[in-house]
Amino acid sequence: MPRTPVAAVPGPPAPASIAPAKRAREDAGDGADDRQPKPKKAKPSPNSKGAGALDPEGDAVIVLDNQQTGFQEKYLVSSKILSLASPVFTKMFSQKFSEGAKVRNGEVPSIDLEEDDAEMMGIILNILHYRLEDIPRDIETLPLAILAMLSDKYDCERALGIGYALLAAYKFHCKPSFLSGLASRASKFLPHNFYAQCYKDGLIDLLPEDLEDALIVHIDEAMHRLFATLHGVEEHLQERSKGFQLSPPKRICQACDKMYLKKEKKCTCTAFTEDRLCTVEYRVAAYFPLLGKAGLYPHSEQVEGLSGDQVFRKIEGMAKDSGHRCQGGQKCPLKVALKKVLDEALVIQTAVDVEWTWK
Ligand SMILES: [Zn+2]
Ligand SMILES: [Zn+2]
Repeated sequence: MPRTPVAAVPGPPAPASIAPAKRAREDAGDGADDRQPKPKKAKPSPNSKGAGALDPEGDAVIVLDNQQTGFQEKYLVSSKILSLASPVFTKMFSQKFSEGAKVRNGEVPSIDLEEDDAEMMGIILNILHYRLEDIPRDIETLPLAILAMLSDKYDCERALGIGYALLAAYKFHCKPSFLSGLASRASKFLPHNFYAQCYKDGLIDLLPEDLEDALIVHIDEAMHRLFATLHGVEEHLQERSKGFQLSPPKRICQACDKMYLKKEKKCTCTAFTEDRLCTVEYRVAAYFPLLGKAGLYPHSEQVEGLSGDQVFRKIEGMAKDSGHRCQGGQKCPLKVALKKVLDEALVIQTAVDVEWTWK
């Protein structure tokens, strides 16, 4: 299930009347403020009356409308666990939203997720709180619920969310093909040091060791392929090809390399200028600064800490908006090379290539 890449377009501010979950979803993604004051301990609240305690010390209540039974289902949840697993919840429980402010004030807010499938959401909440014993064993909805967790809607593609998803699939002996698909997907969204995060949460002890090994190997292989593709482009760019007029046309000083617009025939250093074309050397020189601007070069600890998905998004941004314009249009070898990188990255990103079954 490859995610359709969508360009980030800043939207208008959401009206206050939209349900909290929806608002948070639309707004999710620009990171939460971690310089928040220490939250107060949850106080007893009428909101938690009759709620199933997924976390006995929970600090928020999620309300679901079960269309089949016609009843409301309430869950006492940990805002911290949900925030760690999904950016949607990170946003919802941030200071910017009243729900987050109430949590910090110990008020145990009630959050209505009325538009969500109650059965599926119930399973997701149980999985995220590692309450696997409370999920019916023979349930067919489980794989769907796991996929929903990882969908654009809840976006649980963080070490904790995806780790719990894998764990649930493993514990419930989901089909090997499903497990392999899930592990493949996980490998694209986790950085190669993901187990550091999972160790912290005690999750890694619960996952089978050979799965951890398979994931690490695959993450490293995919990252290696992605960067080999990125660096292999230089070779393509070296291939002889004609030069194109830049748009708008530019001139360069023959003596000091200063660039000018078309009409300047002479440089301030008194030397003459000449036409600057999009040539082999121009394109090679333009490529690495592009990588640098995208945050993919030079190689650093920060670059190494990226997940395959993050690298893919950076490549996508670079290919879609390179800032390079010349008369070659889409046939300009630089554009062709960037398109090639993007195509290859997409292949790497969507491959189902972790074959793993429990022993
Ligand atoms: Zn000059
Ligand atoms: Zn060009």
